[in-house]
Amino acid sequence: MGENRASEDGDRRIGRRALIVGGAAAAAGTAVLARDELARLWWRVPGVEKPREQGAVDYAGARWVAASDANWRRADRPDDFGVDMVIVHVTQGSFDSAVKAFQDPGHRASTHYIVGQDGRVTQMIRELDVAYHAGNRDYNERSVGIEHEGFVDRPEDFTDEMYEASARLTARICARYGIPVDREHIIGHVEVPGTDHTDPGPHWDWDRYLKLVRRARTSRTKAGAPPGA
Ligand SMILES: [Zn+2]
Repeated sequence: MGENRASEDGDRRIGRRALIVGGAAAAAGTAVLARDELARLWWRVPGVEKPREQGAVDYAGARWVAASDANWRRADRPDDFGVDMVIVHVTQGSFDSAVKAFQDPGHRASTHYIVGQDGRVTQMIRELDVAYHAGNRDYNERSVGIEHEGFVDRPEDFTDEMYEASARLTARICARYGIPVDREHIIGHVEVPGTDHTDPGPHWDWDRYLKLVRRARTSRTKAGAPPGA
C-alpha cells in the first residue's frame, strides 16, 4: 500500500515476472503448510469448530431430537471447556413433556440426554455444546446433563430399564472424557452450588447406579472396545 518505498525499489530490481512466479510458489508453499498444520492441529486452534453432521449423536444408543437453540450454547468441548462431570436430573413429568419443553425456546433449559422409564435414550444437544441444565454457568460448561423420566417422590418411576440404560450412557461419557466413576464426578442436580432443585431426590439409588456404571464400563473394556470409542 506504499508504506514501504525501500521494498518497492528492491522489487523493481528483481523484475516483475520473477516476482509473480516466486510469489505464486511462496503462496502454494504456505497453503500446503497450512493444510498440514490444520490436519494435525485444527481441533486445538481457538475458534475452529469441529465438523458437525446433521442428526449425529454422541452415544450410539441414542435417538436424535434437536432442542431449541435458545436452550443451549454452541461450544467446542472438551477443547474450550473440559468435561469432568455428569449431572443426574429427574424430569418431574413424562418423557414426551421433557422433549417438548426442550424444544420450546421459551423454556430456557435443557439437558443433553433424556432417559425413559423403558430405557430409551434421546439426545437433544451435542456434548460439544453447553446445555442449560444445572442453573450454574461453571457446572453447565463442564458437565453432561441427563434427565430421567419420572417424579422425585415416586420411587417406582426409577425402573431397572432406566437405571441400566442411564448407567451405560454415563459409562460411555466417563470413558470418553476420562471422568472418574465416583460421587465427586457423577452428581445430582441437588448438589450443584446455588441450586434450589432437589432432583434426583431421595429415592434415586446412588450406590446401585454407580455399581451399574462401573459394571457397564468394565464389561465394555473386556469386550475389547477401544477406550476412546
Ligand atoms: Zn434438574
